[in-house]
Amino acid sequence: SNMLRSKVVKNPELSYDWFQTDGLITIVVYTKQKDMNAELVIVDCQDKRLRGEIILADHSYLIELDLDHAVQEGFDVNIAEKVGKVEIVLKKKDNVHWKVLGRPLESHNTFIKRTDRGLFYRKCKLVSKTEVTHDTKLFCLMLPKSTHLQVPTGQHVYLKQVIAGTEVVKPYTPILPSLTLDFKQPSCHDGAHIYLMIKIYSCGLFTQALDRLQIGDYISVSSPEGNFKKSQVQTSEDLFLLAAGTGFTPMVKLLNFALTEVSCLRTVKLIFFNKKEDDILWRNQLEELALKDKRFEVQFVLSEPTKDWGGKQGKISLSLLSECVKRSRKDSKVLICICGPTPFTEQGVECLRDLGYSQEEMHAFTA
Ligand code: FAD
Ligand code: NAD
Repeated sequence: SNMLRSKVVKNPELSYDWFQTDGLITIVVYTKQKDMNAELVIVDCQDKRLRGEIILADHSYLIELDLDHAVQEGFDVNIAEKVGKVEIVLKKKDNVHWKVLGRPLESHNTFIKRTDRGLFYRKCKLVSKTEVTHDTKLFCLMLPKSTHLQVPTGQHVYLKQVIAGTEVVKPYTPILPSLTLDFKQPSCHDGAHIYLMIKIYSCGLFTQALDRLQIGDYISVSSPEGNFKKSQVQTSEDLFLLAAGTGFTPMVKLLNFALTEVSCLRTVKLIFFNKKEDDILWRNQLEELALKDKRFEVQFVLSEPTKDWGGKQGKISLSLLSECVKRSRKDSKVLICICGPTPFTEQGVECLRDLGYSQEEMHAFTA
């Protein structure tokens, strides 16, 4: 047979196995996790260096090797969700027999707390940069062909740049290319692109450097991080999203997930706080979505409106929230998500507590 099975490599918690055919190398991990999915597997293969990370609750299992021989660009990740089997299928560059899979690197075959695993970065290419408002842009980054990475709803990544000789790292929350995905371009959803909506501050250290990036330039992007759990939304009937400025970014995927995948939701309301009318991100798309989906409502609140603004004004307050955040039924299961500048989020959480909402009914997006 041309299929040779190696011996199983042991680890107290997890193990992996590998086998080869003439053209392929298949690495298999039996995670025993029943709800395994593609978001929990992050694989990077650069030259002969393979790094495969599997997230298992708050732990991380890592395969990290210098491969025995070269492989082709691109690979497949196959997941058997129900049994928790993960396969990484590499394509051999040359049709040779591999005696070993590779030389183990420092963290190979380790199973540790996720928070103890350092962030891993890969270089992504800037493919487009489009204006959203006078100071905010949508950046589209392309992952390398040999990276498998999907950013889950509610999670962020870190971008890293060398600025004036120093490495600087800042978090950003990937969004979708648009809220109205009827006419979705297949190229936007192949998982190879990461969309970031970023406000450029006139004296911002990181965002000024970002703004100077040219199409075709590269920037380092980390693996995802964050403690939001989709299951919080999956059981709720009323969803309230309180966003201020770019605090809107985590709400994009959340809104899309809620409206497309959560069947028990009756109402979804976004209360969007901005300074001025021209600061409102994706206003047209939000209004369009509200017309299209009867469950969704959007309310704009301006803290520095002009005289002709007919909508709500002010900052986050007890009176405003008591008016805008209401259960659709007396016993509705509610989730309130909040994101914005730290004082906004802190005041919001305090007001919601005063209004009688419990910790379990809120999620604050923070660093
Ligand atoms: P800095 O040089 O740090 O400062 C820029 C300007 O903001 C200055 O004028 C300064 O006075 C002021 N400033 C500094 N710190 C604060 C503060 N904490 N609150 C208010 N004003 C301040 N930003 C996005 O645009 N899009 C995102 O998707 C996004 N996601 C984020 C996700 C997370 C988890 C967190 C914690 C932040 C996120 N941010 C996002 C903010 C981002 O990380 C940077 O803080 C922002 O881009 C400013 O960086 P800078 O170096 O350009 O600005
Ligand atoms: P901004 O300065 O344009 O303000 C937008 C609105 O936020 C204001 O109109 C006001 O209603 C409210 N606000 C601002 N400062 C406030 C204060 N001190 N107290 C109460 N309300 C206040 O906002 P921006 O420049 O777009 O900043 C967005 C913020 O969101 C940044 O601080 C960013 O770090 C944060 N953010 C956090 C995450 C996250 O933690 N996951 C994600 C994205 C953005």
